[in-house]
Amino acid sequence: MNFKELSKKYGTPLYVYDFEHFENQYNELKKAFKARKSIISYAIKANSNLSVVKKFASLGSGADCVSIGEVKRALLAGIDKYKIIFSGVGKRDDEIQEALEKDILMINVESEAELKRVDEIAKNLGKVARISIRVNPNIDPKTHPYISTGLSENKFGVDIETAKKMYIYAKKSQNLNPVGIHFHIGSQLTELEPIREASAIVADLVRSLKAINIDIKFFDVGGGLGIKYKDEETIKPYDYAQAILSTLSGLDVTIVCEPGRFLVGNGGWFLTKVLYEKVNGDKRFVIVDGAMNDLIRPSLYNAYHKIEVLSSKENPKVSKANIVGPVCESGDFFAKEIEVPETNPGDLVVIHSAGAYGFTMASNYNTRPRPAEVAVEDNKDRLIRRRETFEDLIACEIDYMV
Ligand SMILES: *Cc1c(COP(=O)(O)O)cnc(C)c1O
Repeated sequence: MNFKELSKKYGTPLYVYDFEHFENQYNELKKAFKARKSIISYAIKANSNLSVVKKFASLGSGADCVSIGEVKRALLAGIDKYKIIFSGVGKRDDEIQEALEKDILMINVESEAELKRVDEIAKNLGKVARISIRVNPNIDPKTHPYISTGLSENKFGVDIETAKKMYIYAKKSQNLNPVGIHFHIGSQLTELEPIREASAIVADLVRSLKAINIDIKFFDVGGGLGIKYKDEETIKPYDYAQAILSTLSGLDVTIVCEPGRFLVGNGGWFLTKVLYEKVNGDKRFVIVDGAMNDLIRPSLYNAYHKIEVLSSKENPKVSKANIVGPVCESGDFFAKEIEVPETNPGDLVVIHSAGAYGFTMASNYNTRPRPAEVAVEDNKDRLIRRRETFEDLIACEIDYMV
C-alpha cells in the first residue's frame, strides 16, 4: 500500500481500504463454518460505504442492519434480501413497516412491546413477519464496557424466560413466524469461553422450544469477533466456529454470523498530514489535519490505534508527543505520550486498523467536511466516496437566505 502516493493523489484526511483483506477475512470465516449451512451477514454499521457493501454482496454475504437506512444500503448494494437481518433496540413503526414490505429474511426483535408492534404492523399489511428474538444470555464478554451488550444491565435483548414467552406468543399469532434466535454479547471479543457459554445457553433454549413444536431455523450468533489493534491475543475463526458448533449437537439450524470489525477493521487506514508541531510547557504536540470528527475511537473509547509517522527529516530525534487534531476539544487526540520522530509540515501520519467504526462514526463537528474514501483492489486504487464540500455540509439548512 503506497500511502504517500495515495495521500498525494486524493489529499488528506483520507480513508484507504484494502478490498482484498476484506475478501480474505470473509473467506476465512465462511470456511470456518463449513461443517454447517451458514450465512455470514456483514454488520453494515462497521463500514457502510456502498462500494464496501457491494464487495461483500459479490462474495455472497448477507447484511446485519440496525436501521432502515442500512437495510436500504444493503439492498442498493445488491445483498440478497433473504440474507438481510434488521436488529436494533428501538425500531420506529415506519422502519418495521418498510422492512416487512421489503421482505427481508427476518426482523430481530428486542422486547415484548416490539414483538406486539411487529405483530400489529404485519397484520395491517396482511403479511407474516419472519422474526428472531434477541436473547440476552447474561454473560460477561470481558470487553470494554461501552461495547459489552450481553449482560442484563445492558439495554439489549430479553432474558431467557421472556424470550420463551415471546416465542409462544409469536407461534400463536397469524402474522408472526418465529424463524430465528439471536444473541450478540459484545464487540472486540478476544475470549472464547463467554461465546461458548452464551451459545450453549441459547442452544438449550432452542431445544426447549423444539420440545413445544417451535422450530428455529436460524441460529444467529451475532458478531463481535475481535481483531488485533496492538498485541491482543485474538480468537481464530476456526476455534470460534468450533466453540459454537460444539453447542449445537442434535440441532438442524443454519448458523448466521454478523461480523463487522473482523471483516473490515484491519483492512482500513486513516491518512492525515502534519500541520505543525508545538510545545506547551514540557508537552510536545504534533498537530495533524485529521481530527476526532473523522475518527472518534481514541476520543470515545480511549481506543488504541497503531500510528506510523513518516518523517521527512534526516535522522529525526524521537521523543514523546501527543498527536492531536484541530477540533476545539481537549478530547481531540489520536494518541497520547507515544514516541514520535521530529516532523516537517506535510509529513504523513498513517493510523492503522481504521476500517471499522472509522468513517461511519465520523461527523461534521466544527463544520469539517468528512474525508474521502479510497478502495485498493488488484493493485489499483479508486475513489469510492468523494470528499465533502462546504456546500454538502449546508445543503439541508433551508432557512438562512437573506
Ligand atoms: C454491532 C453489531 C454487530 C457487529 O459487531 P462487530 O463487533 O463489529 O463484529 C453484529 N450484530 C449486532 C446486533 C450488532 O449490534
